[in-house]
Amino acid sequence: MDKPPDGFVLPAELLGLSEIEIISVKLTRAGSIHILVKSTREEILCQKCHKPTTPHGSGHQLKLRHLPMFGREVYIEIQSRRGICKSCDDHPTTTQTLDWFSHNSHNTKPYENYLMLQLIGSTQTDVARKEGVTEEILQTIIDHYQVDKVNWKRIKRIGLLGIDEIAKLKGHDSYITLVTSRYQGVNKILAVLEGKEKATIKAFLSSIPDKKRKMITAVCLDMCDNYLYAAQEKLSIDIPIVVDRFHVAKLYRKAITQLRSSELKRLKILLSEEDYKALKPAIKILLSKNECYSAEEKEILRPLFKYSPAIKAAYRLAREFTHIYNAHHKRKTAQQKIEQWIEKVEASETSCFTTFIKTVKKYENQICNYFIRRETSRWVEGINNKVKVIKRQCYGITNLKHFFQRIFLDLQGYDIFLNKQPVREN
Ligand SMILES: [Zn+2]
Repeated sequence: MDKPPDGFVLPAELLGLSEIEIISVKLTRAGSIHILVKSTREEILCQKCHKPTTPHGSGHQLKLRHLPMFGREVYIEIQSRRGICKSCDDHPTTTQTLDWFSHNSHNTKPYENYLMLQLIGSTQTDVARKEGVTEEILQTIIDHYQVDKVNWKRIKRIGLLGIDEIAKLKGHDSYITLVTSRYQGVNKILAVLEGKEKATIKAFLSSIPDKKRKMITAVCLDMCDNYLYAAQEKLSIDIPIVVDRFHVAKLYRKAITQLRSSELKRLKILLSEEDYKALKPAIKILLSKNECYSAEEKEILRPLFKYSPAIKAAYRLAREFTHIYNAHHKRKTAQQKIEQWIEKVEASETSCFTTFIKTVKKYENQICNYFIRRETSRWVEGINNKVKVIKRQCYGITNLKHFFQRIFLDLQGYDIFLNKQPVREN
């Protein structure tokens, strides 16, 4: 079937391509649709002097992959017009381009945009297979749109800067560093760095354009010395470095978890089977909730706390630390409260917080900086959940470029590539 059925007229507007007229539509034996078009734009400006040229034949025919139609591959064929310049001394010729394709491309721009959209939440290999394009072509398009490294022009302001480590593969001792930003509720990925060395982080911080680096409002990080020293050495002293409260909470909760498991072991031996069984609802609450409880839960916990004053004391202290965080203290007050808490624990019989207290003393400034504007890196946790999904799909992080691209497209892809094609009304 070489000709379209009688009466089948394809309106040019439907193609979403401007300044063209359709000459013919052909369904090939292989099942793809080939649409021959011609440019309706008369003007060809000289590539050298940008003055109008005189028509001078046509270039060779281009075949460009376009958006699929009726489940079939679509190709646009166009013979570009050429013009010769009478103004320039050497009379150069110029081949006309329209705004929906560039000369060296094999695809129309709407199709490239469509491929980028397909890449959101999917791997490069999957999209290449589904669309029947080579991974090389896909990589060229990705390179063109700069989605596998940061494009500083796209970042208006950094706002909060987050630095976080991620294991490349679960249980393995090799890491990458994820650098992210959050401004006005919008999360962006800035870098995926190999390892977590100070020099690597410093090099990245240096690569941030000066103007943008100065506008960072705060840096949120894990309690990692490499990150801390890199930020201290490379960023202005006016930018507060904040240790995320949830990372701190994780540490004191880890301390009570250890105490709880050793105490429960002790009680299991000490108590009769029946008495220990009666503690099950209380244990369930301890396992499922952090240290703040309702009146009803407190009642259920009472017998357990009676058997183990150590658990009771530790949970109370943990709760007090959480309360310091929850109360809207000024930085100075918060610092006093934390120091009082440390004194109280050190004077008490509770010993499970010894390591935690050492950490608090070491990062006291950064922990207290939280109280300046109550910034957390919760958003980084949100990004980390995406990271987990990607890691599972790809069996770990092997290619940092592809990894950046996946996170970038997950976070910003829809904003950039999901623009509906305008429909022109007659
Ligand atoms: Zn010219």
